[in-house]
Amino acid sequence: MNPYIVKSDLRFNDLSVDRATAAKRFGGGVIAGRRWLIRALSFLSTAIFATTLEATDNISVLGNKPRWNVLEHYQQTITRDEFAHLVNDVYGTQGFAPDLIEIKGDAARILINRDAQKFFTLRFAGSKEEQKNVPRLWRPAKSLPSAGPDKPLAGLRIALDPGHLGGSWAKMEERWFQVGDSKPIQEGDLTLRVSRLLATRLRDLGGKVSFVRSTHEPATGKRPDDFRELARKILIRNGVPQPRAAVLDQTDPEKESTIRWQSEILFYRYSEIRRRAAQVNFRLHPDLVLCLHFNAEGWGDPNSPNLTDTNHLHMLVNGSYLAEELEFDDERFEMIRRLLSRAYDEELPLADTIALAMARETALPPYAYPTTHSTTKVGTSGYVYARNLLATRLYRCPVVYCEPYVMNSKDVFARIQAGDYEGSRNINGVDRKSIFREYADSLAEGLADYCSRACK
Ligand SMILES: [Zn+2]
Repeated sequence: MNPYIVKSDLRFNDLSVDRATAAKRFGGGVIAGRRWLIRALSFLSTAIFATTLEATDNISVLGNKPRWNVLEHYQQTITRDEFAHLVNDVYGTQGFAPDLIEIKGDAARILINRDAQKFFTLRFAGSKEEQKNVPRLWRPAKSLPSAGPDKPLAGLRIALDPGHLGGSWAKMEERWFQVGDSKPIQEGDLTLRVSRLLATRLRDLGGKVSFVRSTHEPATGKRPDDFRELARKILIRNGVPQPRAAVLDQTDPEKESTIRWQSEILFYRYSEIRRRAAQVNFRLHPDLVLCLHFNAEGWGDPNSPNLTDTNHLHMLVNGSYLAEELEFDDERFEMIRRLLSRAYDEELPLADTIALAMARETALPPYAYPTTHSTTKVGTSGYVYARNLLATRLYRCPVVYCEPYVMNSKDVFARIQAGDYEGSRNINGVDRKSIFREYADSLAEGLADYCSRACK
């Protein structure tokens, strides 16, 4: 009856709201009545489009065919114990079909393709001492030469990824709301503003900063119209035999079943983030990516949004793949490659340290996900979760995905309206630093803390 559609899938929707609240926002309450049995588009195989003579590739939406031979470079770079720990406690915490990854005595057997019954064999190192070097382009902070206490980030290549597009795309992205006649809140504009302040601070600390996005212009050259045919096929495959072309209006309860709406999300999320990943992996080659976001609670009608008293902070690192996600040949391959790169060893303590610095300055409590079915709490700070987002999976280096501040909390809303300023101002009866500077300063401080310690 009701189709299984993309936007329902918050796995790729970085807003860390629970599904009920999200449903309220996206569907004005209409979707909330649906059971979230919905097999979202991300779980939808594109197998119908990609077939070979021998076997069908089971690839996720706009995904790339995995190159399993790359993993040959990781032979004997990890012990059995460490591999099992990373699978059991970080990446595969939601469970998966037993034939996908089998850990044996001295090797793991990883499924390449089920139809063809093809497997990749990863041989373990006999001990830590016998481990071969992990091949990778990024460098852990502790491997960089120290340049003194004033420059804790010396030599570190940091790419800033301000979340979303903002500008004229903000309404399409559903990252826009407006209270009365006040200035509209557009997440993509806020993150860009933070990234510019942050770049200055990180450079002062010795970091080499690049931008994954520095304007409102999409990285992808595609536009929604380019995805109309794919959107139509996806809808048909998911039980909408004759999908409508257009969305009637913002409150259209069936908007998710329209070709327009589906092709837009294929553009601004799937295509855009995959294009950003190509820039990170093939052009920027950073040691670290910081994904900058503002969080939100369900705001309902964007023209008459709910403001809340709730405000919180959390960080995400890659992990906690769903069983359905690991069924995809490309996602399973990307997960294994990421695991073997040991990005987790760097991004987890980094996320913990940044979270603690931001918590000190913002006094925000940790966000608590309403369910453990998609995320896994990791680390020691209480603020960090593992979750499989496109950006945290595809950027081939440590990635810390920052989700401070609930944009539609009364406090944050007032602080955003106040704009950026020097010093402090009285907002809602309290003297506050500009929210943009607080974000940038505390994040930079956390990163400096981590690198100062790592270099000792
Ligand atoms: Zn965001």
